[in-house]
Amino acid sequence: MPNNPPPLPTRRVFASLLTAGAGMAALAACTPENATPSPVAATATSEAPSAPVTSSTATPSAAATETAPVETASATPSSTAPSQAVAPQHSLTDPTSPWVVVNKHRPLAPQDFVPADLVQPGVRLAVSGEAALLNSTTAAAAEKMFGAAAAEGVIMTLASGYRSYSTQVATYGGYVASTGQAAADRASARPGHSEHQTGWAFDIGDGAGACSFQPCFAEQPAAVWAKANAHKFGFVIRYPWMFHDTTGYFYESWHLRYLGVEAATDMSTRGIATLEEYFGLEAAPDYL
Ligand SMILES: [Zn+2]
Repeated sequence: MPNNPPPLPTRRVFASLLTAGAGMAALAACTPENATPSPVAATATSEAPSAPVTSSTATPSAAATETAPVETASATPSSTAPSQAVAPQHSLTDPTSPWVVVNKHRPLAPQDFVPADLVQPGVRLAVSGEAALLNSTTAAAAEKMFGAAAAEGVIMTLASGYRSYSTQVATYGGYVASTGQAAADRASARPGHSEHQTGWAFDIGDGAGACSFQPCFAEQPAAVWAKANAHKFGFVIRYPWMFHDTTGYFYESWHLRYLGVEAATDMSTRGIATLEEYFGLEAAPDYL
């Protein structure tokens, strides 16, 4: 595994993040070191969900948060879930499980987890080093999806994949040093809380590189195609539009998460937008 983490964000990036105001919330979950938010982000994000969608699945037992293992099929949410949560077929806590749920209430355990099977997928890359890596299952699925998109004339790039704990420590620490913790929490996941560390998630870019990591990416061909087709390859859009009060992050049309074809298709068919609702877990709008 490459061991040369990308440089810390520059002061210029921090400054633009500050001026981007609410816009930086849109970058919260991913914010790779080289993302350069533009004022466009602020504008577009202001249209972002102002009416919070309260997930009524937000009332599971405390136990479900930390230890919903395979056997805890009774993770079936207590009473009020509008859509029936599935009984876990895979662990929701083991980071090697395709169903692991990582959010602001559910850090990775161990927090410095490193996937044992990181590989570089045979897809068009917009990054190098560790960010070009995915776990082997995700890499294989990504190759199929990128290939299918290309066959339909849609060029997709891998914009950011695996991110190590140490990289996240440096990135988040840089934000804290420059902007303070509150602003850092809006701009970057805390170490051990990034889905990118699992190897199950990655960000896509458009062939032309348009609107990378910005709200307007949602209208680019790669994002439009992914939204319509990603589930066929086992992926979900992890931070969907209007569900930041459940997921903790504003809409990220570029952030895909592998779940497996069956579950991703099931979510799509049933119109369930978030992993939290699908698995009957509490909403995680912010750190505890
Ligand atoms: Zn991401």
